[in-house]
Amino acid sequence: MSSGDEEPQPSTSRGIKRKKYLQCHKKEWELEFPGWLQASSKNLNYANCKSCNKEIKISSGKDALKKHSTSEGHLVACRSVKAQPSITSFVVKKNPKEC
Ligand SMILES: [Zn+2]
Repeated sequence: MSSGDEEPQPSTSRGIKRKKYLQCHKKEWELEFPGWLQASSKNLNYANCKSCNKEIKISSGKDALKKHSTSEGHLVACRSVKAQPSITSFVVKKNPKEC
């Protein structure tokens, strides 16, 4: 009785998993990018932009934040956030002269 089954040898060279270091949100970044950056509640490797309401992947590091802070969409969103909705005083309807 000979079974031709060979037990698969544990391949030591293959089993090595490279540990990738993923960047997590840092509080100090919020000081560098004030006003819009906050930690994401969903994922440690994400940050949240308050202005854009977007999740930014930060696992690669701070560069992602830099990129986001200069992106056009973000700048536009920041501008519109800063412009507080105090439009009421701005909108002045011209009264047509009636008499
Ligand atoms: Zn943004």
